[in-house]
Amino acid sequence: MKNLVVLLFLMILFQNNYSQVKTNLKPEPIIDMHMHTGLPHPVPPGTLSLCRPEPCEGDVAATIDPAAHLKKTLEIMDRYNIVKAFVSGFDLQNIHKWKTAAPNRFITSHFILNPGKPDVQKLREEISAGNLQGMGEIGTQLMGIPPNDPKLEPYFALAEGQDLPVLIHTLGIGPYMANFRSAAGNPLLLEDVLLKHPKLRLYVENAGYPYKEEMIAMMYQYPQLYADVSTITWVIPRTEFYNYLESLIKAGLGKRIMFGSDQMVWPEKIAEAIEAIEQAPFLTKQQKRDIFYNNAVSFLHLDESDNIASQR
Ligand SMILES: [Zn+2]
Repeated sequence: MKNLVVLLFLMILFQNNYSQVKTNLKPEPIIDMHMHTGLPHPVPPGTLSLCRPEPCEGDVAATIDPAAHLKKTLEIMDRYNIVKAFVSGFDLQNIHKWKTAAPNRFITSHFILNPGKPDVQKLREEISAGNLQGMGEIGTQLMGIPPNDPKLEPYFALAEGQDLPVLIHTLGIGPYMANFRSAAGNPLLLEDVLLKHPKLRLYVENAGYPYKEEMIAMMYQYPQLYADVSTITWVIPRTEFYNYLESLIKAGLGKRIMFGSDQMVWPEKIAEAIEAIEQAPFLTKQQKRDIFYNNAVSFLHLDESDNIASQR
């Protein structure tokens, strides 16, 4: 009987200590290079998350209220230790709200859907005032406008001059919009931009999916070009995402692929995007850390003095 009491006591002690150790363990830091404050158009409540290819059905209902969206995103960032995120918004007021909520954690930027909006001069002022630290997402492909359209020149020139990270939608898939063109998203179209702006810090969302050969060509030829994984971590079948990512890794590009969730109005998808990388059977621990964190540190020119890993 005495032995049993001692055993029980030891078990309770062990359990308490164990759960204490567990809660003290903070996950390793993550940088999310692709978030949005919402979508450019109003979304009906209950709109399910995107998926491809049809027929398919999304599994997460949209968070419509902007304040709730910010709150949920921050909660998930805390849970997964996302220490920094590039967030692209559609109106300056809302972008400011995100920045105010967590000044050190957001790299704020204005979405560009149509060239001329926002006005380049207005952007320059906001950048000078410290309200914006990035450019894009440049999403003009959604309107059928390719990246090498001269109308985008002033934006690239501004970003190059100010040394800003630039996120661009140049790939084969996108939202179902009347003017969207897959052909306007061929990564080869970036060549004109990269030649004209050799110092531009450009990264391509979804790693240019599914233009694998074109993306490899661009990344081999232009060492300054990076990619993020964004939506393909959750919008296409997991096996297809793994096929694509593994090809890029096998091509030797593991040091220039960054994590991004592209959560839009479904912040829960951040967790799914993280899980997709964590569970990738072909990635080593080091390759996962590079994608989650190290590659973004290099791309964003962050260093120890930025103390990013402890920014909360
Ligand atoms: Zn996006």
